[in-house]
Amino acid sequence: MRNDDVEIFAIGTELVTGLILDTNSHWLAGEVAVAGGDVRRITALADDFDALTAELRAAVGRRARVIITTGGLGPTPDDLTVEAVAELAGCGIHTPRDVLEDYARRRGISLEEASSPPRLKMGTVPAAARVHLNPVGWAPCFMVQVEDSSVWCMPGPPREVQGCFRAHIQPVIERMFAGQSARLRVFIDAHESETSPLMQSVMRRIPAAYLKAYVGMSSPEGLPVDIVVRSEDGVAPKELLQQAYDEFCAVAAESGKTVTMEAPAGS
Ligand code: ATP
Ligand code: MG
Repeated sequence: MRNDDVEIFAIGTELVTGLILDTNSHWLAGEVAVAGGDVRRITALADDFDALTAELRAAVGRRARVIITTGGLGPTPDDLTVEAVAELAGCGIHTPRDVLEDYARRRGISLEEASSPPRLKMGTVPAAARVHLNPVGWAPCFMVQVEDSSVWCMPGPPREVQGCFRAHIQPVIERMFAGQSARLRVFIDAHESETSPLMQSVMRRIPAAYLKAYVGMSSPEGLPVDIVVRSEDGVAPKELLQQAYDEFCAVAAESGKTVTMEAPAGS
């Protein structure tokens, strides 16, 4: 049977030496869950070729269905993710012309100017990769299939991770897990601090459910909450979603709060 686990790798020596907090993995874990995927492991690694290849190979050995990496795609020699993933895939590396052309176009510079050594390095990907242009930065996002695992690589800056994930990876994960998951956006007339224990109560009672509140999108009338369920034991996702929704409505009502499917007027 196919393994449906998703694994996340945060790559960068600055992460394991305590200089930078790995917020990418935290953000991605929430997004993958909302997209219906099941993150089972998060690994942080230094920019070390041998460690990268060994740990990525181990994830392929665990037959992770999706492996997502961030970091190590930059212009400096210590950025080794491309080389490590090429080694994993048993292929060479190359610099696709359309990546350089895209950069030249967006910057309004010539192809020659766009081909300086640092930009060439950032535009270099494993030869077996499918390349997805970066909507907010330079180093592209790419995907290499290695045995059962789709290995998706993104640059490290959080803004680029969010842009690349939303544009290229989220739709793929949603499609991949569509049969096993279902989701619904609802609204609750409560603050995050009031909502959080209610969501936790639902997740405790229905372990297949994952609830995420969108504090940044809240308004005085309602806080948006996504309810996502993953079906494990052959129970139809829609049935689980109904259970999770009913449970959320019930615990909210106990606290005098109301959950609605439509955004309340004015929100
Ligand atoms: P770049 O093209 O910007 O050099 P890169 O893929 O090489 O991208 P890194 O050099 O590894 O990425 O990281 C660039 C910056 O992104 C880091 O200085 C750090 O601020 C931030 N960053 C990298 N990884 C993470 C992470 N996991 N969590 C939060 N921030 C990160
Ligand atoms: Mg780096």
